[in-house]
Amino acid sequence: MRRLQLICLFVVLTTLCAFGQQPFLSPHHWTALRDESSGAAPYENLRYLTGLHRVPATADFDQAAQFVLQRAREYGLADAHSEQFPIDGTKQYGLMRSYLAWSVEEARLWEIHPQHILLGDWKTDPIHLADYSHSADVETELVDVGYGTSEGDYSGKDVRGKIVLADGVLARVQELAIVQHGAAGIVSDMPNQTTAWSGLDTTVVRWGHLNARQPSGFAFMVSRQTAEALRSRLRGTETVILNAHVKATVGPGYWTVVTATIPGTDSAAGEIVYSCHLDHERPGANDNGSGCVTILESARILARLIDSGQLQRPKRTLRFVWGPEVEGTMAFLASHPEIRQRLRANIHMDMVGGDPFKNKSVFHVTGTPWSLPSFVTDVGALFLDTIRAAASGYAAGEMAADTGIVESRAGGQGTRNELVADVTPYSSGSDHDDYDSSTIAVPSLYLRDWPDIYIHTDHDSLDQIDATKLRRVALLGAASGYVYASVTAQQLPTLLPFLTAQAEARLAQAFGPAQQLVDDPQVEAGAAWYEARNLVDQTLQRENATLHSIVEFTGGPGAADANGAKALADQAAGFQHWLDAQTRFRGAKATAPTASWASDPDAKRVPIRVGEFGPLTYQNDNVLLARLGKDRYGKIKLINSEATPMLNVRDQSELYAYEIVNFVNGKRTVGEIRDAVSAEYGPLPVNLVADYLQACVEAGAVQWK
Ligand SMILES: [Zn+2]
Repeated sequence: MRRLQLICLFVVLTTLCAFGQQPFLSPHHWTALRDESSGAAPYENLRYLTGLHRVPATADFDQAAQFVLQRAREYGLADAHSEQFPIDGTKQYGLMRSYLAWSVEEARLWEIHPQHILLGDWKTDPIHLADYSHSADVETELVDVGYGTSEGDYSGKDVRGKIVLADGVLARVQELAIVQHGAAGIVSDMPNQTTAWSGLDTTVVRWGHLNARQPSGFAFMVSRQTAEALRSRLRGTETVILNAHVKATVGPGYWTVVTATIPGTDSAAGEIVYSCHLDHERPGANDNGSGCVTILESARILARLIDSGQLQRPKRTLRFVWGPEVEGTMAFLASHPEIRQRLRANIHMDMVGGDPFKNKSVFHVTGTPWSLPSFVTDVGALFLDTIRAAASGYAAGEMAADTGIVESRAGGQGTRNELVADVTPYSSGSDHDDYDSSTIAVPSLYLRDWPDIYIHTDHDSLDQIDATKLRRVALLGAASGYVYASVTAQQLPTLLPFLTAQAEARLAQAFGPAQQLVDDPQVEAGAAWYEARNLVDQTLQRENATLHSIVEFTGGPGAADANGAKALADQAAGFQHWLDAQTRFRGAKATAPTASWASDPDAKRVPIRVGEFGPLTYQNDNVLLARLGKDRYGKIKLINSEATPMLNVRDQSELYAYEIVNFVNGKRTVGEIRDAVSAEYGPLPVNLVADYLQACVEAGAVQWK
């Protein structure tokens, strides 16, 4: 009886409290979005995409683009069209150099002696041919060169005209084996995207890429099992003869990008852009067919509810973009400065459908970097909590299927899994790096699975995908985008208290690491004190900027967030007081700590960005390396990580580099930039920052003021 009462109370409460999506959306709007969402639609669209080997600037990629375009039109999106951007390896899009196109007619690798075995055929399994392989017709011996990535791997071996067996980074093997030692081609089982589970399943075939800028060479990818069998035979006295036939060309071409919109009511109010990346190997179900079909489903949900009047048409336009990873984003933004100007927020989906019990994925709502604090993450995090609570409630038997957002397909039940998910700080590696970078400055809600044990392999198939999860993420994307597109300054009185509470929680979280810094026995008391106070200061600045971001976004009165700022300042003052007390306990005498860089003249210089827009690294281009050359690039201290006692730079140098450039705004000094990145990723000597910025100056991306 008592239990029954509790259940009744629970039912009443969950109904009254709606679903936890407030204050951003009303229960009515949430229910409409939830009930329109489907996992079956994106799952079936994904079935089509996984049949295509979607390498950018190839025929299969364009076929995938054509399919997405057709669906966008069927779903009633406006201005659905595709655009082609020429590429030739030198043409620039913003700071990024274009790459090259590739076309393949056929490719086969046979072992012809002593056995007769087909090792790979492009027609049936395109993943067996590494991207940007060139034409070849050879019948020759196979030579094991180990990793094949250092000169020593080739000593005493004659590889000229032969095929090498290697498992090192493919582009490096290409440079050494083919370009320098005259080998004809490569057979590779290079691990690509290693995870804790890498190597356990030796049957997977990994996707490989040669460097398209190199003039020759081909590579066939085989499983570790196949490669190990070949290695053990070569260790004996056996001579293995292979026959490789490739008909393929690398050269100029174009990237295709598809875009469509749901127009807002006010064309001057800006745009919200959804992105994904349409490329990758076949099947590439989670990476990243899943992101493409899920933004498409968010688009379908929103178009239908807005067109039918169930949701009011928002002020801002919703835009959807499908193109090659990073490169498509840069080409599109460089070619449409007017659209780039209008963008206000981004939702980026890259791997969002993995069944966690199959591919070990955890779904992450990923925050913006500290250089671009924004409320967009809070919106996504709240809807994640809402959906996760619903999924848990359903899994525990406390909620109905519609509330639990599960998917049933073709008469079968979808998974009833919980949503294994969290909110994480900024993490790099996809198109959101471009949106979040300072010269584009469009804050990104980055949705991603990580890890995924099948990423970039022939096992990243539809079997690993959970339609229930696709539905939940499509809902999360649609709800977040609708908020970004429709939020107004009239809502600030309810939104700011909510956002302030989130900011207070994050500020409180920074106190733990600050305490560890101040007590770090490896560091002199005064220096430790400075770093600890700096962490609290920088976190306070970040959270103030997060609060202020919604005031600016909605065009509210400048002082609308004054109460929130006061609450945060008081909270931070309390933390600093405790840190001061702990330092005195360690024996520090000064009344305030001084920066280690206070008397360094380099720290007082002010850098400013110049030239083209964009971050400094892309997956197929590195601006500093391309402009400065290998020797000068190799002398950049941050990249070459003179690790300091306070941190191991090696692991994080790319994140530091990305943020150092993002914090350059023509006002901050080198010392201030040093403090900003030190709070985000750990204390860093100021000379590493000055030295990195000097390299950026030499490359023409930054100037000293
Ligand atoms: Zn991806």
